[in-house]
Amino acid sequence: MEDHQDQKVVPAWLVEFHGHLCPFLVVGWRMGQEALSRLGAERERDQGLFLFTELGGEALRPQSCYEDGLQSATGCTAGKGTLRRFDFGKVAAVLAQPGGIAVRVALRPEVCDELAQADYAAERRQGKPASAVSQAATLDAVARVASKSADELFLFEKFSTVHFSPVAARPARARCANCGEYVFEQDAVTKDGILLCRPCAGHPSAV
Ligand SMILES: [Zn+2]
Ligand SMILES: [Zn+2]
Repeated sequence: MEDHQDQKVVPAWLVEFHGHLCPFLVVGWRMGQEALSRLGAERERDQGLFLFTELGGEALRPQSCYEDGLQSATGCTAGKGTLRRFDFGKVAAVLAQPGGIAVRVALRPEVCDELAQADYAAERRQGKPASAVSQAATLDAVARVASKSADELFLFEKFSTVHFSPVAARPARARCANCGEYVFEQDAVTKDGILLCRPCAGHPSAV
């Protein structure tokens, strides 16, 4: 029984990576594991699987922590380019094998309701960051996720054909005439015959 419980809670390295333990990290971890097992796949080491999340907007939401659990469980990550984020406002994701099959996993509405009513959510609504929520409230919310079976937590939908086929790119590098930094040619802008990176061309930038 103890082993069974352990498998449902996240590994220590994931909490370290994410920065705190929270219920939606566990939701994402389990969502990813269930998606993998329904595809008959292992955690992806390279670029053979793609993850499409449905809560990928700019707004800061406690639920979006599930994306870190999902990436960690499936091996589909931002760094490998195998994560695509949609902003549908849903705690759901599709895991796809290009040219193969895919599975969509969504958190059940009643689980969303239960978590929204838990003490953890009440403390977050008071303005506490996740790491400052009391341990009792965090462990209670995590246990609500960890103790449920896959079917109690999620709705599953399987797709027999995946039309998504990513292309590998080997783009040429160029140097921005203004800042001198390297930029991939396909991302550069040509202005009055001069090649510029997007920030130098006046496009919105991070800073
Ligand atoms: Zn979190
Ligand atoms: Zn530049």
